[in-house]
Amino acid sequence: DQLISQIAAGEVVERPSAVVKELLENALDAGSTQITVRLEEGGVKRIAITDNGRGIPPEQLPLALARHATSKIASLNDLENVSTLGFRGEALASIASVASVSVTSRTPGAPHAWEIVGSHAGTVAPSSGAFGTTIDVQDLYFNTPARRKFLKSEQTEYGHCAEVVRRIALARPDVSFSLSHNGRTIDHWNVSEMAKRSAHILGNDFAEARLPIDEAAGPLRLHGYAGLPTASKARADGQFFYVNGRFVRDKLLVHAVKAAYQDVLHGDRFPSYVLALELDPALVDVNVHPSKIEVRFRDGRAVHQFVFHAVQRALAQTSA
Ligand code: ADP
Ligand code: MG
Repeated sequence: DQLISQIAAGEVVERPSAVVKELLENALDAGSTQITVRLEEGGVKRIAITDNGRGIPPEQLPLALARHATSKIASLNDLENVSTLGFRGEALASIASVASVSVTSRTPGAPHAWEIVGSHAGTVAPSSGAFGTTIDVQDLYFNTPARRKFLKSEQTEYGHCAEVVRRIALARPDVSFSLSHNGRTIDHWNVSEMAKRSAHILGNDFAEARLPIDEAAGPLRLHGYAGLPTASKARADGQFFYVNGRFVRDKLLVHAVKAAYQDVLHGDRFPSYVLALELDPALVDVNVHPSKIEVRFRDGRAVHQFVFHAVQRALAQTSA
């Protein structure tokens, strides 16, 4: 069981940023409105995420760390209707097989928190803490040195973690996030709306030169902002696309957006954008490799056309 977990962990938990992503998704699935991410040494030494979500009752703490115990997929059919970010029920178990994990949680109305340390076989003991959950992951890959060797420098691993936080924070302006590294607060974003959150994360250049998009056609809706190509400091890491709330980097979507920009681009700098596509979950396959950020659409052509035209129409406002 431990070995299977460690092998699976190699897929789910490629590097510290993958842990951050899984823990943030769990916190959001729990309905949190306030999330704190504390990292040490690029996340390798420690990733501690505290939320104010619905918490985990003490009797369920062992289940949360057990493999597939919480899988939300009862049948293949269900795969088409997942609305939560997590659905495999393997992330925490995988993480716990390659790191020292403790989960502390207090549900609404509970007189105090409870904690479980180590694995699903650990004991559940009373603890202290506010309502919500803290998942503390320490010494990633301490027991799998071969994997640890593949990690890059602290700064590189930190950069990946921070990028994951940015991606998720951009999609959820209704949630406050704070991020610290080695005891220093790096970012803090208050609850806000998309206009402000995206300005905070992508900077004033973006905020001052962007066009709003909100278009719907049949089962498809695209909303967000397309940065103007005139923005002086277009950045290479300023392209954000979400499908049903998940950050993706999908060839078809990137192509559709680039094609829409074609006529207005001068120079080789690609503008920033934050775009969110919403569609019936039955029309998109999210059952992809856990560490991948690609999706498969039922009707790729229709999605491509829709995104292309929506962005193109928004950009046409500039020349009008
Ligand atoms: P999945 O998210 O795919 O269900 P995970 O291994 O990521 O599986 O998490 C296992 C379970 O632990 C979740 O389904 C959820 O019930 C519980 N859980 C994990 N993190 C949190 C959290 N921050 N708040 C509340 N419940 C949580
Ligand atoms: Mg999960």
